[in-house]
Amino acid sequence: MSGPAEALPAPVITLDGPSGTGKGTIAGRLAAMLGWHVLDTGALYRCVGLAAVRRGVALDDDTALGALAAGLSIRFDGERVLLDGLDVSTDIRTAAAGEHASRVAAQPAVRRALWRLQRDAVRPPGLIADGRDMGTVVFPEALLKLYLDASPDVRAQRRYKQLKDKGMDANLEILARELAERDRRDRERAASPLTPAPGAVVIDTSELGIDAVLERVSTTVRRMLPNALPGTLSTAQPERPSN
Ligand code: C5P
Repeated sequence: MSGPAEALPAPVITLDGPSGTGKGTIAGRLAAMLGWHVLDTGALYRCVGLAAVRRGVALDDDTALGALAAGLSIRFDGERVLLDGLDVSTDIRTAAAGEHASRVAAQPAVRRALWRLQRDAVRPPGLIADGRDMGTVVFPEALLKLYLDASPDVRAQRRYKQLKDKGMDANLEILARELAERDRRDRERAASPLTPAPGAVVIDTSELGIDAVLERVSTTVRRMLPNALPGTLSTAQPERPSN
C-alpha cells in the first residue's frame, strides 16, 4: 500500500472476516487474555463515513474522501469512539453508518489515509487488529493471521440480535439484504478486497457460540505461538485494554 513497511514496534495478530462473525467480541476477549491492545478498524471506516455524510462529501469522491480521512482525529477511549473530540460511539453503530462505511471503504484514497493510522496504532506488548484487510494489506508481517467466517443467514441473525440488544430498531429481512450488499462490495472492490490472507487460519463460526470460538482461537494462538507468548494466556485479566 505505501511501499516497504517499517518494522513494527510490537507483535500483531490479525483478525479478519465479514461482519457478524463475532470478530469484535473475540478481538476484545483475546486482547484481554493476552494483556494486549485491540484496534477496531471498522470503527475508523465508520467514522470516515459519518464525517462524510455530515459534511456533505459524496461517498464516491475518492480525492475529497482521502483528504477528509487524513484530516480526522479519531480516538478510542475504552469503549467510546471520539471523532474530532465528539463521542460518536452510538452514531457509528447504526445500519446506515455500516453502509456508509462500506461505501467509503471502497475508495483507495481512504484506505491509504487509514493505512498509516492503523500501523501507528501498534504498541507494546502487542495488538489484535480487527478488520477486513489486516492480514492481507495493513499487517502482512503479522505474527498470526486469523479469519472468522459464518453463513450469511447466521451473520444476519447475529447482527439483528446485536442491534435489538442495544435497543436499536432493526428488521431482519432488510438487514440480511444490506449485509449481502455490503459483503458483495467488500469482496469485489478493487482496493483491499475482503479475502483470507495467505496462511491465515480460517475458522467457520456458523455452528459455534462465542465461547467455543474463543476456545478455538486461543488453542490456535497457543499452538502457533508457543514461544512468542510464554505463559501469557490466562483468563486472569478480564479488563479489555483501552486503545
Ligand atoms: O467491521 P465493521 O462492520 O464495523 O466495518 C464496517 C465497514 O467498514 C465494512 O463493511 C467494510 O466495508 C469496512 N472495513 C474495511 N476494512 C476494514 C474494516 C472495515 O473495508 N479493515
